[in-house]
Amino acid sequence: NKQIIFRDYIEGAPKETDMELKAGTVKLKVPKGSGALLVKNLYLSCDPYMRGRMRDYHGSYIPPFVPGSVIEGFGVSKVLDSDDPNFKTGDLVSGITGWEEYSLIQKTEQLRKIQQEDIPISYYVGLLGMPGFTAYAGFYEVCSPKKGEYVFVSAASGAVGQLVGQLAKLHGCYVVGSAGSSQKVDLLKNKLGFDEAFNYKEEPDLDAALKRYFQQGIDIYFDNVGGPMLDAAFLNMRIHGRIAVCGMVSQHSFSDPEGIRHLYMLVAKRIRMEGFLQSDFLHLFPDFMKHIISHCKQGKIVYIEDMNEGLESAPAAFAGLFSGKNVGKQVICVARQ
Ligand code: NDP
Repeated sequence: NKQIIFRDYIEGAPKETDMELKAGTVKLKVPKGSGALLVKNLYLSCDPYMRGRMRDYHGSYIPPFVPGSVIEGFGVSKVLDSDDPNFKTGDLVSGITGWEEYSLIQKTEQLRKIQQEDIPISYYVGLLGMPGFTAYAGFYEVCSPKKGEYVFVSAASGAVGQLVGQLAKLHGCYVVGSAGSSQKVDLLKNKLGFDEAFNYKEEPDLDAALKRYFQQGIDIYFDNVGGPMLDAAFLNMRIHGRIAVCGMVSQHSFSDPEGIRHLYMLVAKRIRMEGFLQSDFLHLFPDFMKHIISHCKQGKIVYIEDMNEGLESAPAAFAGLFSGKNVGKQVICVARQ
Protein backbone atom coordinates (compact mmCIF):
# COMPACT_ATOMS: atom_id res chain seq x y z
CA ASN A 1 0.00 0.00 0.00
CA LYS A 2 1.88 3.06 -1.26
CA GLN A 3 1.33 6.07 0.98
CA ILE A 4 2.22 9.77 1.09
CA ILE A 5 3.47 10.69 4.54
CA PHE A 6 3.49 14.17 6.04
CA ARG A 7 7.03 14.74 7.32
CA ASP A 8 6.88 17.65 9.74
CA TYR A 9 5.43 21.10 10.33
CA ILE A 10 6.53 23.72 7.86
CA GLU A 11 6.91 27.43 7.39
CA GLY A 12 6.21 29.28 4.17
CA ALA A 13 4.99 27.65 0.98
CA PRO A 14 4.86 23.82 0.94
CA LYS A 15 7.55 21.90 -0.94
CA GLU A 16 7.44 18.47 -2.52
CA THR A 17 9.98 17.30 0.04
CA ASP A 18 7.64 18.10 2.94
CA MET A 19 5.94 14.81 2.02
CA GLU A 20 7.41 11.41 1.20
CA LEU A 21 6.29 8.24 -0.52
CA LYS A 22 6.47 5.10 1.66
CA ALA A 23 5.30 1.51 1.52
CA GLY A 24 2.71 0.80 4.20
CA THR A 25 0.27 -1.99 4.93
CA VAL A 26 -3.49 -2.23 4.96
CA LYS A 27 -5.93 -4.88 6.23
CA LEU A 28 -7.61 -6.77 3.40
CA LYS A 29 -10.85 -7.15 5.35
CA VAL A 30 -12.69 -4.69 7.54
CA PRO A 31 -12.71 -5.91 11.16
CA LYS A 32 -16.24 -7.03 12.15
CA GLY A 33 -18.03 -4.59 14.44
CA SER A 34 -15.72 -1.71 13.53
CA GLY A 35 -18.26 0.10 11.32
CA ALA A 36 -15.38 0.92 8.97
CA LEU A 37 -14.89 0.76 5.20
CA LEU A 38 -11.98 -0.53 3.16
CA VAL A 39 -11.65 1.55 0.00
CA LYS A 40 -9.47 1.71 -3.07
CA ASN A 41 -8.61 5.35 -3.73
CA LEU A 42 -9.17 6.40 -7.34
CA TYR A 43 -8.83 10.21 -7.38
CA LEU A 44 -7.30 12.50 -4.78
CA SER A 45 -7.75 16.23 -4.48
CA CYS A 46 -4.98 18.76 -3.87
CA ASP A 47 -6.51 21.70 -1.99
CA PRO A 48 -4.84 24.86 -0.66
CA TYR A 49 -6.55 24.53 2.75
CA MET A 50 -4.30 21.51 3.41
CA ARG A 51 -1.42 23.94 3.86
CA GLY A 52 -3.18 25.09 7.04
CA ARG A 53 -2.90 21.56 8.41
CA MET A 54 0.87 21.60 7.96
CA ARG A 55 1.50 23.98 10.83
CA ASP A 56 1.54 23.20 14.51
CA TYR A 57 -1.52 25.26 15.34
CA HIS A 58 -4.60 23.87 17.05
CA GLY A 59 -6.80 26.95 17.08
CA SER A 60 -8.13 26.63 13.53
CA TYR A 61 -11.32 25.01 12.25
CA ILE A 62 -9.43 21.81 11.45
CA PRO A 63 -6.61 20.11 13.41
CA PRO A 64 -3.06 19.90 12.07
CA PHE A 65 -1.71 16.78 10.37
CA VAL A 66 0.30 14.50 12.61
CA PRO A 67 3.95 14.31 11.50
CA GLY A 68 4.75 10.82 10.22
CA SER A 69 1.15 10.02 9.32
CA VAL A 70 -0.60 9.61 5.98
CA ILE A 71 -1.87 12.86 4.46
CA GLU A 72 -5.62 13.17 4.66
CA GLY A 73 -7.74 14.87 2.02
CA PHE A 74 -10.76 14.67 -0.24
CA GLY A 75 -10.95 11.82 -2.71
CA VAL A 76 -13.13 9.54 -4.77
CA SER A 77 -12.85 5.89 -3.79
CA LYS A 78 -14.36 2.50 -4.45
CA VAL A 79 -15.63 0.41 -1.54
CA LEU A 80 -13.88 -2.97 -1.36
CA ASP A 81 -15.33 -4.13 1.96
CA SER A 82 -17.84 -2.59 4.34
CA ASP A 83 -18.95 -2.99 7.91
CA ASP A 84 -21.22 0.05 7.61
CA PRO A 85 -24.80 -0.73 6.52
CA ASN A 86 -24.93 2.52 4.52
CA PHE A 87 -22.26 1.33 2.08
CA LYS A 88 -21.68 -1.86 0.16
CA THR A 89 -18.86 -3.38 -1.83
CA GLY A 90 -18.61 -1.73 -5.23
CA ASP A 91 -20.09 1.63 -4.15
CA LEU A 92 -18.28 4.74 -5.32
CA VAL A 93 -17.87 7.31 -2.57
CA SER A 94 -16.45 10.80 -2.21
CA GLY A 95 -15.18 12.44 0.94
CA ILE A 96 -12.24 12.36 3.31
CA THR A 97 -9.73 9.60 2.67
CA GLY A 98 -5.95 9.04 2.85
CA TRP A 99 -3.25 9.82 0.31
CA GLU A 100 -2.56 6.13 -0.27
CA GLU A 101 -3.69 3.34 -2.57
CA TYR A 102 -6.06 1.72 -0.05
CA SER A 103 -7.60 3.22 3.07
CA LEU A 104 -9.40 1.81 6.05
CA ILE A 105 -11.91 4.57 6.83
CA GLN A 106 -13.41 4.76 10.28
CA LYS A 107 -15.17 8.12 9.95
CA THR A 108 -17.66 6.96 7.33
CA GLU A 109 -19.92 9.94 8.09
CA GLN A 110 -17.38 11.99 6.13
CA LEU A 111 -18.24 10.06 2.96
CA ARG A 112 -21.08 10.45 0.46
CA LYS A 113 -22.22 7.80 -1.95
CA ILE A 114 -21.85 8.89 -5.58
CA GLN A 115 -25.33 8.58 -7.06
CA GLN A 116 -24.83 9.73 -10.61
CA GLU A 117 -22.08 7.90 -12.39
CA ASP A 118 -22.79 9.31 -15.85
CA ILE A 119 -20.53 12.24 -15.00
CA PRO A 120 -16.74 11.73 -14.76
CA ILE A 121 -16.28 10.58 -11.17
CA SER A 122 -13.20 12.76 -10.66
CA TYR A 123 -15.62 15.74 -10.78
CA TYR A 124 -16.73 14.74 -7.29
CA VAL A 125 -13.58 16.23 -5.79
CA GLY A 126 -13.91 19.42 -7.82
CA LEU A 127 -16.92 20.81 -9.62
CA LEU A 128 -19.28 18.50 -7.71
CA GLY A 129 -17.25 18.40 -4.52
CA MET A 130 -15.91 20.71 -1.85
CA PRO A 131 -14.42 23.41 -4.17
CA GLY A 132 -17.52 23.59 -6.36
CA PHE A 133 -19.70 23.81 -3.29
CA THR A 134 -17.48 26.59 -1.94
CA ALA A 135 -18.10 28.58 -5.10
CA TYR A 136 -21.84 27.94 -4.93
CA ALA A 137 -22.30 28.75 -1.23
CA GLY A 138 -19.86 31.65 -1.30
CA PHE A 139 -21.39 33.28 -4.34
CA TYR A 140 -25.08 32.89 -3.58
CA GLU A 141 -25.02 33.06 0.23
CA VAL A 142 -22.19 35.45 1.01
CA CYS A 143 -22.01 37.78 -2.00
CA SER A 144 -25.75 38.62 -2.18
CA PRO A 145 -25.46 38.99 -5.97
CA LYS A 146 -27.83 40.98 -8.13
CA LYS A 147 -28.22 40.92 -11.87
CA GLY A 148 -26.06 43.48 -13.60
CA GLU A 149 -23.51 43.80 -10.79
CA TYR A 150 -19.76 44.02 -11.32
CA VAL A 151 -17.91 40.98 -10.02
CA PHE A 152 -14.18 40.42 -9.60
CA VAL A 153 -12.71 36.96 -8.89
CA SER A 154 -9.05 36.27 -8.04
CA ALA A 155 -7.33 32.90 -8.67
CA ALA A 156 -10.13 32.80 -11.19
CA SER A 157 -9.09 29.79 -13.25
CA GLY A 158 -8.70 27.57 -10.19
CA ALA A 159 -11.10 25.04 -8.72
CA VAL A 160 -13.28 27.56 -6.90
CA GLY A 161 -12.76 30.64 -9.07
CA GLN A 162 -13.74 29.05 -12.37
CA LEU A 163 -17.17 28.17 -11.02
CA VAL A 164 -17.71 31.48 -9.21
CA GLY A 165 -17.16 33.32 -12.47
CA GLN A 166 -19.53 31.09 -14.39
CA LEU A 167 -22.25 31.31 -11.74
CA ALA A 168 -21.89 35.08 -11.78
CA LYS A 169 -22.26 35.14 -15.56
CA LEU A 170 -25.35 32.91 -15.37
CA HIS A 171 -26.71 35.37 -12.80
CA GLY A 172 -26.37 38.24 -15.27
CA CYS A 173 -23.29 39.88 -13.77
CA TYR A 174 -20.27 41.43 -15.47
CA VAL A 175 -17.28 39.30 -14.47
CA VAL A 176 -13.54 39.88 -14.53
CA GLY A 177 -10.99 37.35 -13.32
CA SER A 178 -7.31 37.57 -12.43
CA ALA A 179 -4.89 34.69 -12.89
CA GLY A 180 -1.16 34.13 -13.02
CA SER A 181 -0.39 33.26 -16.65
CA SER A 182 -1.44 34.14 -20.18
CA GLN A 183 -2.67 30.56 -20.68
CA LYS A 184 -5.04 30.98 -17.72
CA VAL A 185 -6.19 34.40 -18.95
CA ASP A 186 -6.95 32.86 -22.30
CA LEU A 187 -9.00 30.09 -20.66
CA LEU A 188 -10.96 32.60 -18.61
CA LYS A 189 -11.89 34.69 -21.62
CA ASN A 190 -12.31 32.02 -24.26
CA LYS A 191 -13.47 28.93 -22.42
CA LEU A 192 -14.97 29.94 -19.10
CA GLY A 193 -16.95 32.92 -20.41
CA PHE A 194 -15.49 35.69 -18.24
CA ASP A 195 -16.05 39.15 -19.75
CA GLU A 196 -12.43 40.11 -19.11
CA ALA A 197 -9.36 38.65 -17.46
CA PHE A 198 -5.83 39.79 -16.70
CA ASN A 199 -2.51 38.35 -15.61
CA TYR A 200 -1.81 39.95 -12.24
CA LYS A 201 1.87 39.00 -12.48
CA GLU A 202 2.25 41.38 -15.40
CA GLU A 203 0.56 44.29 -13.68
CA PRO A 204 2.97 46.63 -11.90
CA ASP A 205 0.02 48.47 -10.35
CA LEU A 206 -2.94 46.30 -9.30
CA ASP A 207 -5.06 49.33 -8.43
CA ALA A 208 -4.60 50.68 -11.96
CA ALA A 209 -5.39 47.25 -13.43
CA LEU A 210 -8.68 47.06 -11.53
CA LYS A 211 -9.55 50.62 -12.54
CA ARG A 212 -9.01 49.62 -16.16
CA TYR A 213 -11.55 46.79 -15.95
CA PHE A 214 -13.97 48.33 -13.48
CA GLN A 215 -14.46 51.94 -14.44
CA GLN A 216 -17.67 51.93 -12.39
CA GLY A 217 -16.09 50.03 -9.49
CA ILE A 218 -16.61 46.52 -8.09
CA ASP A 219 -19.83 45.39 -6.42
CA ILE A 220 -18.56 41.94 -5.44
CA TYR A 221 -15.01 40.79 -4.87
CA PHE A 222 -14.69 37.03 -4.42
CA ASP A 223 -11.28 36.88 -2.78
CA ASN A 224 -9.26 33.70 -3.07
CA VAL A 225 -5.82 35.20 -2.54
CA GLY A 226 -5.68 37.99 0.09
CA GLY A 227 -2.51 40.13 0.13
CA PRO A 228 -1.88 42.97 -2.33
CA MET A 229 -4.84 42.06 -4.56
CA LEU A 230 -7.21 42.46 -1.65
CA ASP A 231 -5.67 45.81 -0.84
CA ALA A 232 -6.10 46.98 -4.42
CA ALA A 233 -9.70 45.75 -4.40
CA PHE A 234 -10.49 47.90 -1.34
CA LEU A 235 -9.69 50.97 -3.43
CA ASN A 236 -12.01 49.87 -6.22
CA MET A 237 -15.09 48.70 -4.35
CA ARG A 238 -18.37 50.50 -4.87
CA ILE A 239 -20.42 51.80 -1.99
CA HIS A 240 -22.20 48.86 -0.29
CA GLY A 241 -19.95 46.42 -2.10
CA ARG A 242 -19.38 42.93 -0.71
CA ILE A 243 -16.10 41.09 -0.28
CA ALA A 244 -16.42 37.34 0.23
CA VAL A 245 -13.21 36.18 1.85
CA CYS A 246 -12.91 32.63 0.64
CA GLY A 247 -9.19 32.09 1.12
CA MET A 248 -5.81 33.75 1.23
CA VAL A 249 -3.59 31.47 -0.77
CA SER A 250 -0.90 34.17 -1.10
CA GLN A 251 -0.45 34.34 2.69
CA HIS A 252 1.47 31.18 3.51
CA SER A 253 2.65 32.42 6.87
CA PHE A 254 -0.93 33.13 8.03
CA SER A 255 0.12 36.50 9.38
CA ASP A 256 -1.29 39.73 8.07
CA PRO A 257 0.80 40.73 5.09
CA GLU A 258 2.57 44.01 4.92
CA GLY A 259 0.92 46.32 2.51
CA ILE A 260 -2.73 46.11 3.55
CA ARG A 261 -3.14 49.86 3.72
CA HIS A 262 -6.69 50.55 2.65
CA LEU A 263 -8.82 48.79 5.24
CA TYR A 264 -10.44 52.13 6.01
CA MET A 265 -12.31 51.76 2.72
CA LEU A 266 -14.58 49.33 4.58
CA VAL A 267 -15.92 52.34 6.42
CA ALA A 268 -15.76 54.93 3.69
CA LYS A 269 -17.60 52.71 1.22
CA ARG A 270 -19.75 50.80 3.73
CA ILE A 271 -18.37 47.51 2.39
CA ARG A 272 -19.48 44.21 3.89
CA MET A 273 -16.48 41.90 4.12
CA GLU A 274 -17.25 38.38 5.26
CA GLY A 275 -15.13 35.32 5.70
CA PHE A 276 -16.87 31.99 5.28
CA LEU A 277 -16.34 28.26 5.29
CA GLN A 278 -18.21 26.06 2.89
CA SER A 279 -18.89 23.67 5.76
CA ASP A 280 -21.23 26.23 7.34
CA PHE A 281 -23.65 25.76 4.45
CA LEU A 282 -23.84 21.99 4.12
CA HIS A 283 -27.64 22.07 4.31
CA LEU A 284 -27.47 23.51 0.77
CA PHE A 285 -25.42 20.61 -0.61
CA PRO A 286 -28.37 18.74 -2.21
CA ASP A 287 -29.53 21.96 -3.96
CA PHE A 288 -26.00 22.56 -5.14
CA MET A 289 -25.72 19.08 -6.67
CA LYS A 290 -29.03 19.40 -8.45
CA HIS A 291 -28.22 22.86 -9.78
CA ILE A 292 -24.68 22.15 -10.97
CA ILE A 293 -25.35 18.70 -12.44
CA SER A 294 -28.24 20.11 -14.44
CA HIS A 295 -26.14 23.04 -15.71
CA CYS A 296 -23.24 20.73 -16.43
CA LYS A 297 -25.40 18.34 -18.48
CA GLN A 298 -26.87 21.23 -20.44
CA GLY A 299 -23.38 22.46 -21.24
CA LYS A 300 -23.96 25.74 -19.38
CA ILE A 301 -21.00 25.14 -17.11
CA VAL A 302 -17.52 24.23 -18.24
CA TYR A 303 -15.03 22.54 -15.93
CA ILE A 304 -11.26 22.52 -16.25
CA GLU A 305 -9.30 19.83 -14.47
CA ASP A 306 -5.56 19.43 -14.16
CA MET A 307 -5.06 15.69 -13.79
CA ASN A 308 -1.73 14.21 -12.68
CA GLU A 309 -1.14 10.49 -12.95
CA GLY A 310 0.03 8.36 -10.03
CA LEU A 311 0.03 8.75 -6.26
CA GLU A 312 3.72 9.66 -6.38
CA SER A 313 2.86 12.84 -8.30
CA ALA A 314 0.75 14.19 -5.42
CA PRO A 315 3.40 16.04 -3.35
CA ALA A 316 4.71 18.07 -6.30
CA ALA A 317 1.19 18.75 -7.54
CA PHE A 318 0.15 19.97 -4.11
CA ALA A 319 3.22 22.21 -3.77
CA GLY A 320 2.50 23.53 -7.28
CA LEU A 321 -0.78 25.08 -6.11
CA PHE A 322 1.23 27.73 -4.31
CA SER A 323 3.10 28.85 -7.40
CA GLY A 324 0.16 28.51 -9.75
CA LYS A 325 1.42 25.42 -11.62
CA ASN A 326 -2.07 23.95 -11.75
CA VAL A 327 -4.30 24.95 -14.63
CA GLY A 328 -7.78 24.28 -13.29
CA LYS A 329 -8.71 21.93 -10.46
CA GLN A 330 -5.69 19.88 -9.37
CA VAL A 331 -6.56 16.19 -9.16
CA ILE A 332 -4.37 13.09 -8.79
CA CYS A 333 -5.43 9.90 -10.54
CA VAL A 334 -4.31 7.01 -8.33
CA ALA A 335 -6.23 4.31 -10.19
CA ARG A 336 -9.04 4.13 -12.75
CA GLN A 337 -11.52 1.83 -10.93
P1 NDP B 1 -6.79 26.83 -7.02
O1 NDP B 1 -7.22 25.71 -7.85
O2 NDP B 1 -7.21 28.22 -7.43
O3 NDP B 1 -5.22 26.78 -6.83
C1 NDP B 1 -4.55 27.79 -6.15
C2 NDP B 1 -4.24 28.96 -7.09
O4 NDP B 1 -3.93 30.09 -6.31
C3 NDP B 1 -3.02 28.75 -7.95
O5 NDP B 1 -3.28 28.04 -9.13
C4 NDP B 1 -2.59 30.16 -8.24
O6 NDP B 1 -3.24 30.64 -9.41
C5 NDP B 1 -3.13 30.96 -7.05
N1 NDP B 1 -2.03 31.45 -6.22
C6 NDP B 1 -1.07 30.71 -5.61
N2 NDP B 1 -0.21 31.50 -4.96
C7 NDP B 1 -0.65 32.77 -5.16
C8 NDP B 1 -0.18 34.05 -4.74
N3 NDP B 1 0.91 34.19 -3.98
N4 NDP B 1 -0.87 35.15 -5.12
C9 NDP B 1 -1.98 35.03 -5.89
N5 NDP B 1 -2.46 33.85 -6.33
C10 NDP B 1 -1.80 32.74 -5.95
O7 NDP B 1 -7.31 26.62 -5.53
P2 NDP B 1 -8.81 26.48 -5.04
O8 NDP B 1 -9.72 27.03 -6.08
O9 NDP B 1 -9.02 25.11 -4.56
O10 NDP B 1 -8.84 27.45 -3.79
C11 NDP B 1 -8.93 28.86 -3.99
C12 NDP B 1 -9.02 29.54 -2.63
O11 NDP B 1 -10.23 29.14 -1.98
C13 NDP B 1 -7.89 29.18 -1.68
O12 NDP B 1 -7.53 30.33 -0.98
C14 NDP B 1 -8.52 28.17 -0.75
O13 NDP B 1 -7.89 28.12 0.49
C15 NDP B 1 -9.93 28.73 -0.67
N6 NDP B 1 -10.95 27.77 -0.25
C16 NDP B 1 -11.79 28.16 0.76
C17 NDP B 1 -12.81 27.35 1.18
C18 NDP B 1 -13.74 27.85 2.23
O14 NDP B 1 -14.60 27.09 2.70
N7 NDP B 1 -13.63 29.10 2.62
C19 NDP B 1 -12.98 26.02 0.61
C20 NDP B 1 -12.11 25.73 -0.52
C21 NDP B 1 -11.11 26.59 -0.91
P3 NDP B 1 -2.61 31.80 -10.32
O15 NDP B 1 -1.75 31.14 -11.33
O16 NDP B 1 -3.81 32.44 -10.89
O17 NDP B 1 -1.81 32.67 -9.39
